[in-house]
Amino acid sequence: MSLRVLINGARGRMGLELIGSAPKMGLTVGAAVDVGDDLPAAADRADVIIDFSSHAATRATIAVATAKKKALVIGTTGHSAAEKAELLALAAKVPCVWAGNFSVGVNLLFALTRRAASVLGSDYDAEVIEMHHRFKKDAPSGTAARLLEIILEERKLTAEALRHGREGIVGERTPTEVGVHALRGGDVVGEHTVMFAALGERVELTHKATDRGIFARGALRAAQWVVTQPPGVYDMQDVLGLK
Ligand code: NAD
Repeated sequence: MSLRVLINGARGRMGLELIGSAPKMGLTVGAAVDVGDDLPAAADRADVIIDFSSHAATRATIAVATAKKKALVIGTTGHSAAEKAELLALAAKVPCVWAGNFSVGVNLLFALTRRAASVLGSDYDAEVIEMHHRFKKDAPSGTAARLLEIILEERKLTAEALRHGREGIVGERTPTEVGVHALRGGDVVGEHTVMFAALGERVELTHKATDRGIFARGALRAAQWVVTQPPGVYDMQDVLGLK
């Protein structure tokens, strides 16, 4: 019998992509739920719950998965750092893949960013720029947040170093700050650039998504992988064997 998935946030942009891609990858959509639907009842019709809804729904989704002993794939973004830490601990009771971005290309960008941030020292000013469609609700994107985390880890900095945009007489750039800029407009699926700028040269790593099917296929691949794993929280680097 093919793997049965439950799509939470089924009427959204990603939900519709997931419903379209699942059969092509040999998976069955056992249930598709959105605001107001009965998630616990729907969970009985699936082996894996895939959540691309709202950050406000993540806690309840994890509670259903742990109560029903279902594997989880979480793609929803927009959680605060404190909220995410708490939710990660709860999600670890079942096999769970949690990723701010399910594309293979972006996961390679994560690895390249780590390498660049370690080779190019603090003399290379690091800035992250992202652009998404006008309907996106959170900023910066989950992917930008992960890129920033990687740079902070490599440079042994804390979140205090982040500069979310600049305005007014902010003074000269300090060597330890890491800038982040969120552009919004039109139908842009998702673009991220990590820039390392020194005096005399600049390195830019850019990823551009043109079709959100890439995220859906990655999340479904994660669903196929996670059902074979012991409880714990994994990311897309684990699924792709990039660690
Ligand atoms: P969207 O607004 O088009 O869709 C969200 C859907 O979730 C809507 O149909 C909405 O009614 C539903 N929803 C809201 N609250 C709910 C709840 N409590 N229970 C059930 N359903 C609920 O948004 P989208 O563009 O599809 O993105 C959804 C989420 O996925 C966002 O957080 C976005 O940032 C994230 N995302 C992640 C990736 C990734 O690769 N990880 C890629 C794209 C989008």
